Amino acid sequence: MREAIRDLLRDLPSMDELLQRPWTLEFQSILGRDAVKSIFADVIGELRNEIIQGRSSSIEIENLETVVLGRLGHYARKSLRRVINATGVVVHTNLGRSCLSESAVQNVAEIAGRYSNLEYDLDEGGRGHRNAHVEWLLSILTGADAALAVNNNAGAVLLCLAALGKGMEVIVSRGELVEIGGSFRIPDIMDFSGAVMKEVGTTNRTHIEDYERAITPRTRMLLKVHPSNYRVVGFHSAPSREELARLVREKDLVLMEDLGSGVIADLSVFGLSGEPTVKNCIEAGVDLVTFSGDKLLGGPQLGAVVGRKQLIAKLREFPLLRALRVDKMTLAAFETTMRLYLEGRADEIPTLRMLMFSPDDLLKRAKSLARKIRKESGGDVSVIETPDAVGGGAFPATDLPGYGVVLTLPSRISDGTALKSLRGGPVPIVASARAGAVIFHTRTLLDGDDIIIARGVRALLEGE
Ligand SMILES: *Cc1c(COP(=O)(O)O)cnc(C)c1O
Repeated sequence: MREAIRDLLRDLPSMDELLQRPWTLEFQSILGRDAVKSIFADVIGELRNEIIQGRSSSIEIENLETVVLGRLGHYARKSLRRVINATGVVVHTNLGRSCLSESAVQNVAEIAGRYSNLEYDLDEGGRGHRNAHVEWLLSILTGADAALAVNNNAGAVLLCLAALGKGMEVIVSRGELVEIGGSFRIPDIMDFSGAVMKEVGTTNRTHIEDYERAITPRTRMLLKVHPSNYRVVGFHSAPSREELARLVREKDLVLMEDLGSGVIADLSVFGLSGEPTVKNCIEAGVDLVTFSGDKLLGGPQLGAVVGRKQLIAKLREFPLLRALRVDKMTLAAFETTMRLYLEGRADEIPTLRMLMFSPDDLLKRAKSLARKIRKESGGDVSVIETPDAVGGGAFPATDLPGYGVVLTLPSRISDGTALKSLRGGPVPIVASARAGAVIFHTRTLLDGDDIIIARGVRALLEGE
């Protein structure tokens, strides 16, 4: 046995042997010789371990070249790439949430590639503040006295709790102790902030008296959290914002709301009702509202805090802010996106445009996509009605009526193989499959995506 292992280890090619193979030269020019050597060392090391543990035979050694080539190919390709979202989930957290509008993209390119007045006051000719570029816009669009922008909404919540609630009690309903995206959990954020969380009420019902009874001299804040990705159906109640606002006025506390998605424009015109806008929350008397820039707002990743001047002033002085500051590319994208709202051009924001499509629009898009796929690949396609979703933890209980194209797969191609092939093309296509068919939703497709899908289907059917 030990003899066999020794023989196998002796058969492993050396680093020098591998480096001399002709196909490594191309990779050495893309990745550099040191990176290629490091990849070889990893693969040889892994195989050596497997041999020693008795999990590898000579077959694996013969396969070494394939493994190495696969690994080199992986690292030689750009890692963060555009993909086609054919899932019908508009704010798709795994696929980059919101796509920026054309004008926001242009502004990012201009600001990123040039010097800018990021922290320079052009009137005074001296030091300025980076947040000044978006604070007025945030205030005007939400009706708040003041605003602040940070890296993301989780950062915004953490900043508010740490700056205003540290060492004090923050009261939150048991019905709102949410986890979002697997890593944002209200109790954890509360812990990090140093605030003492005080839970009140039950999962499905919390009354204003529950909050009132929990208030002590050490209480600083009442926190309301948007349930985002779930809904309690049936017997459910929570006090209104107005009731909570009255209570905090009376007791001299702060009412904060983590709104999550942050709707700026009224979405009820698109048939999406029941979501308050940020403005609604401010008008109802909430002192501080936090929300994301890249969910339903349709801008870049960013966390906004809007609310009362004295509170925002405290946040501004809190040292944690420096660790959460926003990059200039983000500010460029966010400013342009907010200006589209201001100018009444919100329909140029892809996230909103995708939500606005009527069933008729989508049916037309699906018919056109089906035609293109059939023409390019001869694939067996038909148009189907299939529900889309808003995503991003918004409207979890609402299906959007949608249309897509269903591609029936030949029996030699499994669902998994088909999806993998579509993901493996020059522009990866992310779709879904069920029972021998792939479904392409049309709501989330952007200009030119249909041709790429048609080519992807051809490559899939030709087994490229
Ligand atoms: C999405 C969400 C967050 C996290 O926001 P990020 O921008 O992803 O940091 C926090 N709270 C609520 C209620 C959310 O919906």
